Amino acid sequence: DVVVVGSVNADLVVGVERRPGPGETVLGSDLATHPGGKGANQAVAAARLGARAALVGRVGDDGHGGLLRAALAAAGVDLAHLATAPGAPTGVALITVGPDGDNSIIVSPGANARVGPADVAAARAAIAAAAVVSCQLEVPLPAVEAAARACAAAGARFVLNLSPPAPVPAGLLAHCDPLVVNEHEAAFLLGRDGPGDPAGMAEALRRRGPRSVVVTLGADGALVSAGTERVRVPSPEVAAVDTTGAGDAFTAALCLRLARGDDLPDAARYAARAGAAAVRAPGAQGSFPTPDELPGP
Ligand code: ADP
Repeated sequence: DVVVVGSVNADLVVGVERRPGPGETVLGSDLATHPGGKGANQAVAAARLGARAALVGRVGDDGHGGLLRAALAAAGVDLAHLATAPGAPTGVALITVGPDGDNSIIVSPGANARVGPADVAAARAAIAAAAVVSCQLEVPLPAVEAAARACAAAGARFVLNLSPPAPVPAGLLAHCDPLVVNEHEAAFLLGRDGPGDPAGMAEALRRRGPRSVVVTLGADGALVSAGTERVRVPSPEVAAVDTTGAGDAFTAALCLRLARGDDLPDAARYAARAGAAAVRAPGAQGSFPTPDELPGP
């Protein structure tokens, strides 16, 4: 159903009373190691919802790489195109959590920075067999552009999550069907003079060239702009515990439903339920729902 081209990270999390200043050492809590990376998160979220999901990416030849491969395999993700980058460490996110639950994060891309067009070319058959290919921006742009071209050649649908926000060429935006952004990413793309309201943002983003746009709005759901249609999709009300991974769950569910033939508004309605489910529990991959666990529409 879905091929994800993207990042694989080990999230290394330590709780601290306060963050060290330059030259200073503080003691933190026990280290927690969680599987993460936006690409891996999306592949796991799609698989948990019942998709046949494959991940194109790279891990290092180290302990984290083995751990992450095992977590992905346990979730049922097809790893035929997850390569090992010789001599590179696996990507890690170094996360400190303060007393208020606020995160400070340093990402070391490691093997993710070695993902390139050759990795996408090696997965050409899988892309041709998939209905939908999903990308984010935690792997280098040439890999994402190669994925968009491979989709065009194979007749697959290209979905791009502009996360983390970074400038992208107009030629890449033109392939997106849809471009998926949260309000922060939309504002980044549109610049300081862009409209502040979601509807204005969606229309301004459409004028940048993507075939369709989805703006996610946290607890307020999402706004879909496709063809001449603009549809507001609600999110179920849930008790929010930790919003980490909500966007990844949303995009993965969207891709799955598009692959199964839904139109974009229907796919977004389903995706909003998956995003809402992901905020009910801490962390990313541990909070992703099975179909039985989706909150009502
Ligand atoms: P991101 O995680 O990328 O910042 P959002 O915060 O917009 O993106 O969340 C993505 C989706 O997850 C939303 O469209 C919505 O469906 C769901 N979601 C996020 N936060 C909440 C919340 N507090 N309550 C219900 N649903 C939520």
